[in-house]
Formats: sequence, C-alpha cells, structure tokens
Amino acid sequence: MRKTLVAGNWKMNGRVVQNDELVTTVLAGLAEQALTEQVDVMVFPPSVYIAQVEAATRESALSVGAQNLCEFADGAYTGELSAEMLVDVGCSAVLIGHSERRAMFGDDEQRVAEKVKAALVAGLTPVLCLGESLEQRDAEQTLSVVTEQFKSAVAGLKLPEITRLVLAYEPVWAIGTGRTATPEQAQEVHAHLRVLLAEYGQSVADTVRVLYGGSVNADNAAALFAQQDIDGGLIGGASLKAKDFLAICQAAAVGRDG
Ligand code: PEP
Repeated sequence: MRKTLVAGNWKMNGRVVQNDELVTTVLAGLAEQALTEQVDVMVFPPSVYIAQVEAATRESALSVGAQNLCEFADGAYTGELSAEMLVDVGCSAVLIGHSERRAMFGDDEQRVAEKVKAALVAGLTPVLCLGESLEQRDAEQTLSVVTEQFKSAVAGLKLPEITRLVLAYEPVWAIGTGRTATPEQAQEVHAHLRVLLAEYGQSVADTVRVLYGGSVNADNAAALFAQQDIDGGLIGGASLKAKDFLAICQAAAVGRDG
C-alpha cells in the first residue's frame, strides 16, 4: 500500500527566525506522535532557505524540497537553479508545474516536461502539479485538462521514471481561496489519474502517490485523505502554521483507515 505523503509548500513566505520556530515545532510534534512511521512529510521552503531547513532537519525524517528548478544544466542562466544544485544542498524533491508558475512565470507544458526530465536525471522526485481552472471545471473539461497536463509531462519518460513521480491534483480555483474540492470531486479526478497511470502498468498505478492540494486545512484534511485514491496532500497556507500542519499530518497518518 502507498504510504501517505504530506508536502508543505511555503511559497514565497518565511524569514530565518520564523523558519526555525516553524521547523522546530513541526519536528517536535512529528516525533511526539511518531507520525513519520505512517506518513512521509516534506517541506518546500523558498530556495534561499533550503540550506537552513536542510541543516535543521538533517537528523530527522522530515525531507526538504525546492519549489522550482531550471530545466537546463549548470551554465549561463542568471537567477536560475539547476537540479544538480538542489541535490547538492540536500533536496530530495521539487515542485513542478504549480499553477502559480504556470500562470505567472511561463511554465507551459513543454517547459514542465523538460523540468520533470531534469529533476529525474538528477535523482530528484518531481511533484508534478496538475489542475483545472474554474472556467474549465464549469465547462466540464476537468478530466480532459488533467489528462493533457499529465500526458504531455510524461511523454518522453521511460517506465521506471514515471514510477518515480508524485502527482498533485490541485484545482486552480481551490488554491489559496479557502474553497476546497469536496472529497467526492477530488476522488473523481484522482481515480481518473490512477486510470491514466495504469496505462503504464498496474504497478505504476499502485506505486505513484497522488496528492490533493487546494485549501486543505486541519478541519477538511481527514475527509479528503479518507478517499481511496487520495494519498496525502500538498499544503500551502496551512503549512506555515505548525499546529495546523501537524493536524494535517495526523489526518494523513490515519488516512483511509479514518
Ligand atoms: C499550494 O500552494 O499548492 C496550495 C495548495 O495552497 P493552499 O493550501 O494555500 O490552497
């Protein structure tokens, strides 16, 4: 059975002192409840704080990832970070295709696919974010949109590489809005993604974790994580509050048995 995963996307938030407080409290809570036995937990700080968070979590089961990477290898790309650099500073995963990057920073389908490939080559776990806009949902295009996003991102990959992905279904209308997909709405899309994964073999479908993201909080997490094809969450705002993030990790630890 897939181990549940909770990933905290700090977005462009944090300062050295607050990061220390947040990580210290989260680590203490995870240890107190032995949560990492049942759930994998990752945090994705802004890149300038990756080294700080990596140092603070080195002896723990909390992993660190990056929010973005450059699709190219080291070289003349001012302001960018390569996959190898992220590995060098202790990242094990990277977010790719987050809707904020797709909407504001030009991460189109081709670039998303190149970033996924670059991450895999360097040994990082790509957390591939997918999701429809409100207009697309209203036009009943949700399943076709996520199908297109998924297929174009994995088009050039070999089977063992697809197995190394984590998917995050994040309806754009639910990110940072306080409006969450209902567990049934989310499950429908997750089940569809599972069918797409099964086209590459049942073991791919059984292995790849599909997270839900979009205004997950301490109150709604349990109902979402109880769904058959929801393997945890990608958490934005609530990952900045240790108490809420820990409650979400607790809900993920209970998962489908809840
Ligand atoms: C996100 O940024 O991936 C996210 C899901 O944000 P929020 O939880 O704040 O909606």
